[in-house]
Amino acid sequence: MRFNRLKLTGFKSFVDPTDLIIAEGLTGVVGPNGCGKSNLLEALRWVMGETRAKAMRGSGMDDVIFAGASTRPARNFAEVVLQMDNSERLAPAGFNDSDTVEITRRITRDVGSAYKVGGKDVRARDVQMLFADASTGAHSPALVRQGQISELINAKPKNRRRILEEAAGISGLYQRRHEAELKLKGAESNLLRVDDVIEQLA
Ligand code: ATP
Repeated sequence: MRFNRLKLTGFKSFVDPTDLIIAEGLTGVVGPNGCGKSNLLEALRWVMGETRAKAMRGSGMDDVIFAGASTRPARNFAEVVLQMDNSERLAPAGFNDSDTVEITRRITRDVGSAYKVGGKDVRARDVQMLFADASTGAHSPALVRQGQISELINAKPKNRRRILEEAAGISGLYQRRHEAELKLKGAESNLLRVDDVIEQLA
């Protein structure tokens, strides 16, 4: 699915509502040091469900909220909306009835994040799965941050494999397998408890 538009409000240095149209073809972001180029890439990663504050260059997730400047007070929330082209109907069932789909993440100070897809409340996991299956996403190799190439060259083979798996779009399957294994373990321990109860009754 192609990105069409990125809207930011109160996210890092983008305190005022900012609406970026992402046209077809190559998009370049240019500007002086410190003007917010990396913040834009982080907004993309964040709306796709990034949960590591460190990946957002912060110590807590609230650090993505505009922290105030000499002339402006801090904000209480940040919101990023990513609009994607869905003309090929690749969005998950339930969100697949229009030509565009909007993913929204909003964080409120001391409260945490809330997500919406197509205006409906969803869990973080739903958004992460949506992008993992589309082989984009917060950890996608399509988003290359500063210093990442040298990290990749120096990475351990296991970590490098993870990057390849993400590119192949199978990391969503790993996540589902992990969840299925946890459920299986839960069911097995429930069965043991049932056996104990039956033994006591016999
Ligand atoms: P460079 O070219 O040096 O890599 P850049 O254009 O990528 O810079 P960013 O790193 O995206 O710039 O933006 C840094 C700016 O964002 C800094 O001025 C910093 O003060 C500001 N900033 C980051 N987080 C917040 C926040 N929570 N509130 C307000 N401003 C913030």
